[in-house]
Amino acid sequence: MQRIGVLTSGGDAPGMNAAIRAVVRKAIYHGMEVIGIKRGFAGFIEGDMEPMQVGSVADIIQRGGTILRTARSEEFTTRAGRARAYANVERFGLQGLVVIGGDGSFEGARRFHEEYGLPVVCIPGTIDNDIPGTDMTIGFDTAVNNAVDAINKIRDTATSHERLFIVEVMGRNTGFIALEAGLAGGAESILLPELPFSVEEVCDRLMRGYRRGKLHSVIVVAEGAASGLEIGRQIKQITGFDTKVTVLGHLQRGGTPTAQDRILGSRLGALAVELLRKGHRQLAVGVRNGRVGGFALEQFLQGKKMIDLEAYRLAGILSI
Ligand code: ATP
Repeated sequence: MQRIGVLTSGGDAPGMNAAIRAVVRKAIYHGMEVIGIKRGFAGFIEGDMEPMQVGSVADIIQRGGTILRTARSEEFTTRAGRARAYANVERFGLQGLVVIGGDGSFEGARRFHEEYGLPVVCIPGTIDNDIPGTDMTIGFDTAVNNAVDAINKIRDTATSHERLFIVEVMGRNTGFIALEAGLAGGAESILLPELPFSVEEVCDRLMRGYRRGKLHSVIVVAEGAASGLEIGRQIKQITGFDTKVTVLGHLQRGGTPTAQDRILGSRLGALAVELLRKGHRQLAVGVRNGRVGGFALEQFLQGKKMIDLEAYRLAGILSI
């Protein structure tokens, strides 16, 4: 294989730059050429593509976001859109493609491979960690650490003012960020979309803590479980506690990637190139039990990843 393309698609995630850097440098190390495709499938369709050199990825490993930029492309979901993209495969002489993104991007890559046979390897990059088939996605660790940083700061003022703080975190319809940030941040309660919860029970816990002298509490709410504002309103109504709500939003997504995300991006990017070199035609790379590997793409597209129930129970025990 002589020339491959690389693109980032869907939501940006910190650590994507490390993955791009690894794809480019590993490929060049093996004497291959890399074409960078800008703005995901949108740039693929429009031919917004250019050759990348070793220097194109210099000084990016520590930067959040993605230097190739990203987009959502409605047109790529149509056959006509994908046909336009294939014309650029021919024009640029691509023999393989690395797609870094979430499950939607993986589905687009799968369809494209099925229609045109271009070998593809997908790399999971999303802060939500909601891709089955891999224990970890690029960007998740940074998002969790950003949320924990925010909880730490909120905790300082919660302690000083004897207040109850509700922190709403991202994760779309999953609770991976909420669970890990809640556990690491010592939250009194964690509300997840995957598990039923009752506000009355949350209030009972709060009251129990209050009776034995607890001065402050932090409750982490996943955006997919409920609105933090609404939970705050209900708790205030039931307990009468002064309740402050913080919605972290995109703060969780930005900033410099953690070492773990940079290492994960580096390893997965290099592995993707290695698998294309070896002649694999349709795979995704990921982490299972601490080891990176290449797996059937279908395994990343089917079923729903479950949160770690043991971690959830532990958080409950430790926050009594
Ligand atoms: P994130 O998890 O961060 O949102 P994502 O990759 O899941 O990332 P999507 O917006 O779902 O984000 O998908 C990215 C792009 O992938 C879409 O804009 C579209 O171009 C392409 N795509 C998604 N679903 C399909 C599909 N069924 N067929 C073809 N292309 C698709």
